[in-house]
Amino acid sequence: MYQALRGTYDLLPAEAERLRSFLNRAISILERAGFRELETPIIEEARLFNRSIGEGSDIVSKEMYTFRDRKNRLLALRPEGTVSIVRAYLEHNFSYSNPAARFYYFGPMFRYDRPQKERYRQFLQLGVEVFASGQACTDGEVIFILSEIMNTAEIGPFTIQVNSLGCRTCQDNYGKTLAEFLEKRKEVLCEDCRNRLQNNPLRTLDCKASVCRDILKEAPVISNSLCPDCGHHFKMVLKYLDGIGIRYRVAENLVRGLDYYTRTVWEVTADNGENAIAAGGRYDNLVADLGGPQTAALGFAIGLERILGLMPSVSGQRSGIRLIYLDAASLEKSFGLMISLRKSLTVPVTLSAEEKSLKAQLRLADKDNCRFALIFGPEELERGEVILRDLDSSTQESIREKDLIERLK
Ligand SMILES: [Zn+2]
Ligand SMILES: [Zn+2]
Repeated sequence: MYQALRGTYDLLPAEAERLRSFLNRAISILERAGFRELETPIIEEARLFNRSIGEGSDIVSKEMYTFRDRKNRLLALRPEGTVSIVRAYLEHNFSYSNPAARFYYFGPMFRYDRPQKERYRQFLQLGVEVFASGQACTDGEVIFILSEIMNTAEIGPFTIQVNSLGCRTCQDNYGKTLAEFLEKRKEVLCEDCRNRLQNNPLRTLDCKASVCRDILKEAPVISNSLCPDCGHHFKMVLKYLDGIGIRYRVAENLVRGLDYYTRTVWEVTADNGENAIAAGGRYDNLVADLGGPQTAALGFAIGLERILGLMPSVSGQRSGIRLIYLDAASLEKSFGLMISLRKSLTVPVTLSAEEKSLKAQLRLADKDNCRFALIFGPEELERGEVILRDLDSSTQESIREKDLIERLK
């Protein structure tokens, strides 16, 4: 027997329905805030991600699925959504036609990571991106929208952590401060971090090695290196969040493992879960870095497997109707009725397609989430009647065919 690849999974009907109902609610929140859907391909040129996410980042150096196509071009399965949306924003000239566009997207992302609970190699994200607003009020608005979406998921209490990573100048200054601090403790750092210290000291902040984590707990934080503009911007973001009643926690050690983030970054964790379920931030230089005009922008993405893991499971209302025929003569009759019932009812109407015993067919209908069975036997057919059986109460009655639709409604 074949099995799905390690780190991938099949989304089965009950889960798919839960996901769809969450997405419908989330998208309605987004559309009321002016977001429109933009979907990009799942494959892109690998170099699109290399520079923007960062050559030395874990995502690019260890986790990206890359391969050569038949023309020997190096392609990648997208490891995240933001970079592709920025590529599409530039490719379709939104910079000129509609610079302040806001988009949402939904689909699979790919990272070759060690599979763990709710952490897959192919995983689903719902993400949003907002362009051409550097104002702190937009940070407040976007974080507010994220918290509205979290509320509609009914995942229980959650915490929003926020921090500011400053602009490139702040990051350069902080890099120097951090490098000085780490230089004195170089002997204890892991080998990766000793290299990072030379090339990009900020990258040590993502290190998962416990020796480095312990040292970094004592390290200076970036908030002390913010330039006056960035310091003011972050203060304003917090003021806007306070003004609309968003509860948050400033987390000075919150950094994100991607190069393109600037200024505000945030992460949402459920109080009864350990992993981040959503994360985002500003990336005021990414549009320019990918060849466009200087354009402030920000966004977030929600990990849908984690949302599904935390959402309450709903016991679905049984509503379907199964038509069961008892002999070949009734098949034509029940087939015709199935087609006309589908036109007049909104619940699922199906016809059992195999000639099995009545008992077996009733059991199958029950398993398939049906509430009622409509049974056609030779005698009923002659009288122009059909048996309506309630599978919940196991009661049944004969109904004249012409009264059937009224009765079922
Ligand atoms: Zn700055
Ligand atoms: Zn390390």
